[in-house]
Amino acid sequence: MFDTLQDRLAATFKNLRGKGRLTDADVDATAREIRIALLEADVNLSVVKEFVNAVKVKARNAEVSQALNPSQQIVKIVNEELTEILGGQTRNVRFSKQPPTVIMLAGLQGAGKTTLAGKLATWLKREGHTPLLVAADLQRPNAVKQLQVVGERAGVHVYAPQPGNGIGDPVQVARDSITEAERKLYDVVVVDTAGRLGIDAEMMQQAADIRAAVQPDEVLFVVDAMIGQDAVNTANAFQEGVGFDGVVLTKLDGDARGGAALSIRKVTGKPIMFASNGEKLEDFDVFHPDRMASRILG
Ligand code: GDP
Repeated sequence: MFDTLQDRLAATFKNLRGKGRLTDADVDATAREIRIALLEADVNLSVVKEFVNAVKVKARNAEVSQALNPSQQIVKIVNEELTEILGGQTRNVRFSKQPPTVIMLAGLQGAGKTTLAGKLATWLKREGHTPLLVAADLQRPNAVKQLQVVGERAGVHVYAPQPGNGIGDPVQVARDSITEAERKLYDVVVVDTAGRLGIDAEMMQQAADIRAAVQPDEVLFVVDAMIGQDAVNTANAFQEGVGFDGVVLTKLDGDARGGAALSIRKVTGKPIMFASNGEKLEDFDVFHPDRMASRILG
């Protein structure tokens, strides 16, 4: 994960080893290298600029430290700034005081929504909840079946339209699922919605209609981290068309660069709440900005 960035930053810090103190020239050279490393990682340009400036200001104002040498000082500053652009604090799910809590998943086809539904359900169960998965993706013929398979694997019930009733109305399915959850005492409802391969007005409208119908406590925008900065453009389109409260990054295991992860929080203003890093149900966790920053720094 983020191998190139990791290597580049490590090389930058190595150049500072053995220095007694940080000169302005050292700070400038380091800032330049960090800038290149972030641009190569496909981080959004405005995020790069803000990041590099913050590092420069902090490095210039850093007190001469007895405890940290210049290289360690820069690592500390970069760590703080990485944590900051990744969101600073961990953002937990806001559970409703009046169950069920409704979580809606939105994103492009192939982003990993259905897989995520299973992962989220597994995580919710572990946290002591009783989740219900809802198949409101009626666009793809196989989507309902796929969610049912995922639900079975995760050991959670899936609410889906009855076979033979035609394609069905996803908004109605989503609405009915809330009644079902209230009746059968599921305390969290996870609504999987339809995506398309690209931004599509009809898809957006459907997701917006589902949102209006079920009034979710959390709308999670699910995005494939491997698409780099395109993730930011897609996020902006979903923000405008549907609106969302948090981001789930998927396929981090296959992301060699890191541009999506490092740009999306700053550009959208929305927190990254969860991360997926594999195809198995357990390849998933709450997103902790500080831990991710430390991982990048190795
Ligand atoms: P959806 O169209 O948004 O519902 O996406 P799917 O859940 O069907 O996922 C699309 C593909 O991505 C599937 O082949 C998944 O197995 C795969 N996938 C989902 N999440 C991850 C992940 O975190 N890592 C990897 N490597 N593959 C994933």
